[in-house]
Amino acid sequence: MASGITHLFTAVALGKTFAAEKMPPRFWVLAIVCALVPDIDVLGFYYGIRYADAFGHRGFTHSLFFALLLSLVVVAAAFRRVPAFSKQWLGLAGFFFVATASHGVLDAMTDKGYGIAFFLPFDSTRYFLPWRPLYASPMSISRFFSQAGLEIVAGEVLWIWLPLTLVAASVWLYRRKKGPSQ
Ligand SMILES: [Zn+2]
Repeated sequence: MASGITHLFTAVALGKTFAAEKMPPRFWVLAIVCALVPDIDVLGFYYGIRYADAFGHRGFTHSLFFALLLSLVVVAAAFRRVPAFSKQWLGLAGFFFVATASHGVLDAMTDKGYGIAFFLPFDSTRYFLPWRPLYASPMSISRFFSQAGLEIVAGEVLWIWLPLTLVAASVWLYRRKKGPSQ
């Protein structure tokens, strides 16, 4: 995985880019949960599920189909008052889809491990992006806070945090210039 904090940061930056108005706390909490939850599949290691299996690490929970399912569940459960298929509903569903799918995209930019099964359950091929500047983050916390951990974080700050901050800041400036939305 990319480090958890980078998945979290990505969710917040995407949220800032998406949301023109002030959003309720549950929006932010759920955005972060969506960006982190795909790694729940590491639990499978304890139950004998192998990395390469459909439900192994970077398998089904990292797929676009899973992101779609999760986004629908989140909007149905947490934004019940928003009429289904309204513009606002589609926006929210789209946002939570992107927040969840961002996890697999970041993982697909790491240099180690297996690729991401983006197209499960239809195709079990594991994919990486053609450009993989991130170091894979170790599972163990102690190894993360070592020299290797520093290098991992530096790469993520450069390739993920900075570009996302620039995008979110540009969108914010644009909205400010345009004036309050009606
Ligand atoms: Zn992951």
